[in-house]
Amino acid sequence: MRLRDKVAIITGAGSGIGRSSAMLFASEGAAVVIADLDQARGQQTADEITASGGKALYVTCDVTEQEAAKALAAETIAAYGRIDVLFNNAGISHVGALHEVEPEAWDRVIRVNVRGVYMTAAAVLPYMMESRSGSIINMSSSIAEMGVSARAAYTASKGAVLSLTKAMQVDYAPYGIRVNALLPGTIMTPFVEGYLSRSADPEAAKASIKRRQLSGDLGRPEDVAHAALFLASDESRFVMGSPFYVDGGLVFG
Ligand code: NAD
Repeated sequence: MRLRDKVAIITGAGSGIGRSSAMLFASEGAAVVIADLDQARGQQTADEITASGGKALYVTCDVTEQEAAKALAAETIAAYGRIDVLFNNAGISHVGALHEVEPEAWDRVIRVNVRGVYMTAAAVLPYMMESRSGSIINMSSSIAEMGVSARAAYTASKGAVLSLTKAMQVDYAPYGIRVNALLPGTIMTPFVEGYLSRSADPEAAKASIKRRQLSGDLGRPEDVAHAALFLASDESRFVMGSPFYVDGGLVFG
């Protein structure tokens, strides 16, 4: 039980990587608070965990809203008395080169992917600072360190999350709080299945992704969940401010 007695908030845990992480964290002994905009899917994740004997609570939360983020932290404290882990996983994608991005779409991507991390962390940090411990995992992407065609707003948002992670680590290390970033490559979640299904030839698109990765394989949500588990647990006590790649070797491809 690598997270025994720990309390973890995971944003965007109604789907994909967040959902897989919630299941894994609960199976390793954590009480998991599932924060998502999508009530049906968020509640379903929580119900599946409790049905298998784990501890979970679903909280409807738009991570971009300050009041919602504060309520998420307060509800977690009311239910479980502490917050040990915050996994800032919620995010949205966008396809388009810079000149193709509408200002509203630009703002939406930056708002969810960057402001969402800021708001949720700002709501949770006072509790972690008081307990002088905690692990924050911010969801960046391998795209933050690569040039990928037609992903201008998304790349900018994930680069900002990586930089923010380093700034946060410096500020909160004196409080015993670790802050790391996850940089997944292409992971087969609803997020990715959606845009692949809209491509002219989805199977060819998948084959091309496989060719770009040293693993020759497609990433699964569980691959990222296991990396998040390591960063959440005390096993990673000496890992601070790190960009943690989970990309099947994509950045070397
Ligand atoms: P997903 O679409 O399957 O799940 C995202 C979840 O976030 C959904 O349940 C959605 O309802 C929730 N969400 C969206 N906006 C929200 C908001 N404002 N407040 C609360 N919840 C919100 O996505 P996924 O593929 O599991 O991706 C999760 C994270 O991983 C994202 O930040 C994404 O950018 C990042 N990522 C994904 C990949 C990949 O290939 N799938 C690669 C690198 C990084």
